[in-house]
Amino acid sequence: MTESMHQVLVIEDEPAIRTVLKVLLQAEQYRVIEADTALRAEIETRSHKPDLLLIDLGLPDGDGLAVIRRVRAWSPVPIVVLSARTMEEQKIAALDAGADDYVTKPFSAPELLARIRAALRRNVRGADQASVLRFGDVRLDLARREAHGPAGELHLTPLEYRVIECLARHLGSIVMQSQLIREVWGPDRQDDSRSLRVCIKNLRGKLEADPHRPRYLVTEAGLGYRLRADEH
Ligand code: CA
Repeated sequence: MTESMHQVLVIEDEPAIRTVLKVLLQAEQYRVIEADTALRAEIETRSHKPDLLLIDLGLPDGDGLAVIRRVRAWSPVPIVVLSARTMEEQKIAALDAGADDYVTKPFSAPELLARIRAALRRNVRGADQASVLRFGDVRLDLARREAHGPAGELHLTPLEYRVIECLARHLGSIVMQSQLIREVWGPDRQDDSRSLRVCIKNLRGKLEADPHRPRYLVTEAGLGYRLRADEH
């Protein structure tokens, strides 16, 4: 199935925003179904099995968070959240509940479409993701644990490889700081955000052309990190 045939369920109670989303998605050849309540969202998800959920958190009959939790209990479908700029805690709660990514309202169309493509790609690729990543002049082979930059071979520590591998499994999507620490350092080190910050700083020094203005290993303030890579 090509990307253009993906079906997206738009869960949004404001008709004007729903229409904008529908027009935008259909212009990109997505098939769109709609839901304007939490109840409708669950019914449509079960009956149509869409390829991706785009969900507003403020719904008239309940919380979008509850929808995310209930759907996550039985489905790995990618979920992208639309959230208001002022709802920082809600954003964190949505990612903790199992959402893959979020886009802040008012959203930019290219940004929203990029997030949707990334979430769909990650879902298709699953475990057998590409093991070679490109960051400008830097080439990183995760399977061989080799990295080369313009000045020759780059040495990454085993810890740095584990951080990059965790981020690469969610390439293009946000990874919560708590998830990174749990997966790389283990569940007993949840308060150790300093080790992670040091590791990210060192990785940027190796992978980024300008470590102070990272293009590939990007901070999502208050949430975590997002890894981008150049297309092959
Ligand atoms: Ca709403």
